[in-house]
Amino acid sequence: MKKIALLGSTGSIGVQVLNAVRRHPNSFKIVAMCAYSESKEFTQQVKEFSPELYAVASKSKAKALKVAEYADADIVFNAVSGFAGLEYSIRAIKAGKTLALANKETLVCGGELVRRLAKTHGAEIIPVDSEHSAIWQCLNFDREASFKKLILTASGGPFRGYTLEQLEKVTPKQALNHPTWQMGKKITIDCATLLNKGYEVIEAHELYNAPYSKIETVIQPTSVVHSLVEFADGGLLAQMGTPDMQIPVQMALTYPKHMTTAAQPLSFKKALSVEFIPMTKKQYPLFDLAVNCGKEGGTLPCALNAADEVAVKAFLDGKIKFTDIHATIEHVLSTTVRDELVSYKQLEEVDRTARWKAQKFIFKISK
Ligand code: NDP
Ligand code: MG
Repeated sequence: MKKIALLGSTGSIGVQVLNAVRRHPNSFKIVAMCAYSESKEFTQQVKEFSPELYAVASKSKAKALKVAEYADADIVFNAVSGFAGLEYSIRAIKAGKTLALANKETLVCGGELVRRLAKTHGAEIIPVDSEHSAIWQCLNFDREASFKKLILTASGGPFRGYTLEQLEKVTPKQALNHPTWQMGKKITIDCATLLNKGYEVIEAHELYNAPYSKIETVIQPTSVVHSLVEFADGGLLAQMGTPDMQIPVQMALTYPKHMTTAAQPLSFKKALSVEFIPMTKKQYPLFDLAVNCGKEGGTLPCALNAADEVAVKAFLDGKIKFTDIHATIEHVLSTTVRDELVSYKQLEEVDRTARWKAQKFIFKISK
């Protein structure tokens, strides 16, 4: 029986974790969980799963953080969205827990710090993002295995081939309609701008100790190839399946075993063509910007993420245009100085300052 502490139980990923527990009640148990708001859904979840500890972060952040270090948990599953997830990851790592990490901002904003801490405290990090889970499976669940190249696949988002004029008119409803994956709002918009793919390059760099020169990205429009690894002999392994987060979410709990899910397998009864399209430079400016930020490292990716969180919310609230997400991020980064990453406290300050700059900029352009 694997005992799980679940952070962000009401979100798109959190619900998938609970579904895995429902499917395999003799293998998993939720011993602690938290969400942000005191919603009906959370109350219902607490009733159904009877965790020993539960908390709502908007009411008691201190109690919610305790979920991340809960003594009786064998694995902490971080499905919180945004920069807020980093503090939970640090708590779990400092408690020496195995951390199943869906919250990508943990590695984007604090990758270097998190890697250092994980080493010091002997905490294992298990990838959940579909691309990184695919790579992990191709590497036989060994994040330190050797490879020649990591090849991340991207759907290309709903606006592939759009002109700048068309992009300016994109509505939140259109941007929330991802062609292949069902996800929370923030990540869906990040997929539409392709910033998310830039985040995933940074994630891959941190998880697999991969120099940026060994990470490639390719467009695979139907999202059935979740990523590939090229090895020294020139051979490649890919992990495939229908685009359904049930599989990587559950894999983080069952590895190295595969257990049943409700995902539909790919069908080979009809012709299935799998197309790979090169991703060219400048095709997705926010992708390039995120990767460059990752290469520069230090505190810059944290500022980038803060600006994006504020801009995405403003776009969803109808305050700015889709293309203003990029403008906001560029503005914030142009007034941010890179520092070496030393502590979480420092990142909190970087995050706060960048949010303030983004809000001020949005106020100005939306007047
Ligand atoms: P959602 O927005 O659907 O859910 C976020 C969850 O986090 C909710 O349960 C929310 O609670 C909770 N939450 C937010 N802030 C806090 C906080 N301060 N303390 C505690 N809980 C908090 O997000 P997703 O499930 O889509 O994404 C979660 C993470 O996983 C993100 O980092 C995302 O990038 C990553 N990811 C998601 C994928 C997907 O398919 N959705 C795929 C790969 C990665 P409440 O409901 O009360 O607000
Ligand atoms: Mg992904």
